[in-house]
Amino acid sequence: MASTAYVSTWPTDPRAFESLFEATPSAIFALDRAGRIVGANAAASQLTGYSRDELIELDISQLAQDSIQFVSDALTAAEKREASAVEMDFRRKDASLVPVQVTTIPILDGKHAGGVFFRVEEAHYLTEMRRTRAHMRTLAYYDSLTGLPNRIFFQERLRDALEHAPGQLPCVALLFLDVDRFKDINDTLGHALGDRFLQLVGERLVLLVKNRGIVARLGGDEFVVLAPCRGDADVRELAEELLATADQPYRIEGYEQFITTSIGISVYPDHGRNDQALIKNADIAMYHAKEQGRNAYFFYDESLEAPIRSRLAQEKQLRRALKHDEFRLQYQPIMRIADGNPLVAVEALVRWNHPSEGMLGPDAFIPAAEASGLIVPLGEWVQKTGAAQMRQWQERFGFLVLAINISARQFHQRDLCERLVEIVTGAGLLPQAIEVEITESMALFDAEHAVETIRGLKRIGAQIAIDDFGTGHSSLNYLRRFDADHIKIDRSFVAGLGGPGSDDTIVKAIIAMGHSLGLKIIAEGVETPEQYEFLRAQGCDLVQGNLFAPPMDPSQLEKLLAARV
Ligand code: C2E
Ligand code: CA
Ligand code: CA
Repeated sequence: MASTAYVSTWPTDPRAFESLFEATPSAIFALDRAGRIVGANAAASQLTGYSRDELIELDISQLAQDSIQFVSDALTAAEKREASAVEMDFRRKDASLVPVQVTTIPILDGKHAGGVFFRVEEAHYLTEMRRTRAHMRTLAYYDSLTGLPNRIFFQERLRDALEHAPGQLPCVALLFLDVDRFKDINDTLGHALGDRFLQLVGERLVLLVKNRGIVARLGGDEFVVLAPCRGDADVRELAEELLATADQPYRIEGYEQFITTSIGISVYPDHGRNDQALIKNADIAMYHAKEQGRNAYFFYDESLEAPIRSRLAQEKQLRRALKHDEFRLQYQPIMRIADGNPLVAVEALVRWNHPSEGMLGPDAFIPAAEASGLIVPLGEWVQKTGAAQMRQWQERFGFLVLAINISARQFHQRDLCERLVEIVTGAGLLPQAIEVEITESMALFDAEHAVETIRGLKRIGAQIAIDDFGTGHSSLNYLRRFDADHIKIDRSFVAGLGGPGSDDTIVKAIIAMGHSLGLKIIAEGVETPEQYEFLRAQGCDLVQGNLFAPPMDPSQLEKLLAARV
């Protein structure tokens, strides 16, 4: 009974299926064996933007290039009555592309296929995937912090520019720009403000360069400008503008921050014929600008390479030396004048027991350690080793102060105080047994920050000495604010005592000034009884120098300490 009802409603006239064809939400194209469109429904017209009449004029290959292949595939597969689905792009009337999924269905006329139906559905997931891909591309090509093109994008652009360079302009310049002492800024401001700072730098560069070239961020505090040019004069002008714009003050959260930059320049074709050579050489020139005192630009030149290579080689060696424990500490006694020159403190002085060159003094490697940032781990090694040693000595010989030299890099670290306390107390020593030696110039580089750091060091209980005093600005004003415990008169003044262009007056003045500020005076590099006598007569408080004891190994110093007890 049920089957009779079914049959009775089944339309026998094929035209009755047209309503189904029309109403179905999928776009359907009826194609003949040659791929000509012979029928299309309303959805097909909507998808493509063509009217029904226009569609009937077209071949399916005009909508989708390789679709004709699928027509013949579908015809071949007709006997098996197979439908198959493929993905392709349809070109709309307005030339835009729409990703679709096409199901091909043979139109059977008995066993013979007279044509093919294309049932076409917009492939939203494909659109989505493409959008993601485009987004990924943005991620891959732009720096997320500054929104500037990144290194990958930049290199592509550079390669493009070089390909077209011969016919266009005589040269293309690459200006490699690096913020001076950015690490200090980052350490002082913190990373969030450091980031903000880089954004401001990026914005400024873009505003300056405008359509003269492109600005990209290569990473860290490295920016690069790529600019077509007519000659050196062009490039110099741009470099000078860049330096000038970068060193205008930056307002960050109410702070006024100043920076300078160093720029290295390479020019195509003179300094390299491909992107890698140009970038590398601009980098070398930039490195040179840094070494020449920063805030400058330099063009690449072959002669710049040798010293930089040796510097890099040394950095590598230093890194290895840290790992292989090749550093040593020597200690130099500091005596108090007032009560018969007892040994009251020792200064830790680092040496490098180099595998092939023997024992090296700090002047041979501290500058490279500073420049590379390795001074931070090296400095911590000094603190750790010195503190452990001092803890032992205090147990055996009584209270003694350990003076430690701090480099500029370390001094500008945000967490200097925390780390120092951790290291010192970790070794079982009181911070009161530590004296931190900082140089005048370090303190004056960023005086506000220095005042803060010194306050922090005092708060944890450490003492402060201003080292190499007299060689820098010797600003009385700052000295008052620094709240140090000691001034160390630079050894060059001590060496000049009683000599021809005598430094007597300078030394006298430093002692008097220090005392007036409530500071105690240490004279370093005391070598002769005459020097000592002069200093004592002037009221100098402490002395250090070869006259009493040179820097020595721990075992030697122990003999002195044993004699003291
Ligand atoms: P400095 O802080 O001025 O250290 C004193 C220097 O004077 C030492 O040189 C010492 O050997 C030398 N000296 C001591 N007595 C005499 C003397 O009577 N006559 C003469 N002519 N020189 C004397 P050294 O050991 O070569 O150290 C040089 C510099 O290296 C130090 O100068 C200091 O600025 C730096 N330095 C040493 N150790 C460290 C360290 O652990 N960290 C850091 N950042 N710097 C260090
Ligand atoms: Ca020192
Ligand atoms: Ca000194």
